[in-house]
Amino acid sequence: MQNYYLLGSPIRHSLSPAMMNLSFSELGIDAEYGLMETDIDLLPSAVQKLKENGASGWNLTMPVKSAMCSLCDELSPSALIGQVVNTVVNRHGKLFGYTTDGAGFRRAACDAGFSVPCRKMVLLGTGGAASSILIESALSGSGEISVFCNRPSSRTKIEAVAKRLSDYSKTKIKTFFYSEPHALENEIRESSLLVNATNIGMAGRPEDSGTDCLIPDIRCLSAQPDVFDAIYNPRKTPLLNLAEKAGCRTANGLMMLLFQGAEAFRLWTGEEMPTPLVRKKIFPDS
Ligand code: NAP
Repeated sequence: MQNYYLLGSPIRHSLSPAMMNLSFSELGIDAEYGLMETDIDLLPSAVQKLKENGASGWNLTMPVKSAMCSLCDELSPSALIGQVVNTVVNRHGKLFGYTTDGAGFRRAACDAGFSVPCRKMVLLGTGGAASSILIESALSGSGEISVFCNRPSSRTKIEAVAKRLSDYSKTKIKTFFYSEPHALENEIRESSLLVNATNIGMAGRPEDSGTDCLIPDIRCLSAQPDVFDAIYNPRKTPLLNLAEKAGCRTANGLMMLLFQGAEAFRLWTGEEMPTPLVRKKIFPDS
């Protein structure tokens, strides 16, 4: 039997075991996917144990996605550019690191009828999800991406990603702060796609007011870009509510979650995850 795992902390509420085990069983693959609670300090010994036990592969989530990079023998271009790994394939003791969040985003956006690559995108955020979305959108040939940053250190970090990307892609990437007068409004007006990849709007943030949204006014959406929110809890964020009122097409992050898993499944097994079945059974409200 092949063994696969999710590493990170906390992970007990993850939907990945249900998605993967249903897919293995549906396709008749003799494999099992389990949880391995691991923090950054314990990651090297956990990886050593997985190698010794012949685990076929594993996913990584917060907080161990970046720390996995230096433990891999080879990284995919996206993982190298973003310095983040969420999927490892163990090929005869050699560890290959990938990041599938970006491909998950692209498939989810296309599933919603949005076009990625796109002419011009506004991307809110500079963290793990944002850099995966930036990299995938640029590598797939988007024309222009305007990234909005919260702090100077975050701008420096995302500009380093953009610099590494420039060796692989001709996409024009510009960075802004939210505080720059009219920048957000002007950039969105020229865009076909607006993506939120920040925590703003996510349920359970201590400082959440329930109406948090980085778009200050519905008039910013008057050109009706497609609006994608990487958040999936709640299903309808304040941004998506506002976008619906403005007449935009919208999508939340639930299908990104499904398709990033489907990409990992394909890397491990060479098979397509039965996503319609997984969607029906694991995400019945999608
Ligand atoms: P992260 O690495 O911690 O990044 C969070 C981002 O939010 C950073 O850019 C941060 O900017 C920004 N931010 C935080 N507070 C802000 C504020 N007050 N104003 C403006 N920006 C602010 O987290 P992540 O892993 O990228 O996740 C981001 C979101 O995407 C989460 O809601 C997560 O649930 C979702 N996500 C979804 C999927 C999926 O499959 N659908 C996958 C991954 C993530 P600073 O660092 O500069 O403060």
